[in-house]
Amino acid sequence: MKKHFFLIVGPSGVGKTSLIKRLLLDFPGKIYDTITCTTRSMRPGEKEGKPYYFMTEDKFMQLTKDEYFAEWAVVHGYKYGTPKSELEEAWKKGFLVVMDIDIQGAQLLMKDYKLTSIFIHPPHIDSLLKRLNQRDDGKEANLNKRMESAKKEIKLAHKCSHEIINDNLDDAYLKLKKLVEESLNKL
Ligand code: 5GP
Repeated sequence: MKKHFFLIVGPSGVGKTSLIKRLLLDFPGKIYDTITCTTRSMRPGEKEGKPYYFMTEDKFMQLTKDEYFAEWAVVHGYKYGTPKSELEEAWKKGFLVVMDIDIQGAQLLMKDYKLTSIFIHPPHIDSLLKRLNQRDDGKEANLNKRMESAKKEIKLAHKCSHEIINDNLDDAYLKLKKLVEESLNKL
């Protein structure tokens, strides 16, 4: 069993979710999109386990003490963490683990595992602002926090093994798909 990871890193609103949805359609039964935990509240259309396990600060902190997470980080004011059990389960089944993760979490995992990491860039910082503005939680304070995090993340993009600019979703997807195929061949 090879513990191979495929991290998809990049600021909120850059299109990571759309890219991962396409990967799941193209590689059924081969890749596993981890369900992670967060302390942020649910947005309309979300539910427990989709896309996160939603929990209180107290519960999250208890789980960190129990060493439940493979990594965790504070991302624009909320805590996010990857359960070790999610990874173990996927590896047991022989899946390639694909994770949507922030750069801090990605750096933590890079220390412990050999992995492929792809940073997805927006074509321009203004395009992120536009995307985030359309989201239901696009309230000003929240938006400012997300834009601050985005700038910090972009500065650390070179830490990832590959970088892709999402100026056209189809083109960005084809580049990503090729990298996933290479990772699947290594399994
Ligand atoms: P959102 O709240 O918009 O769904 O996600 C915010 C950010 O948290 C995303 O950019 C995503 O990459 C990151 N994220 C989601 N799950 C995890 C996780 O388990 N660990 C870390 N470090 N970041 C995560």
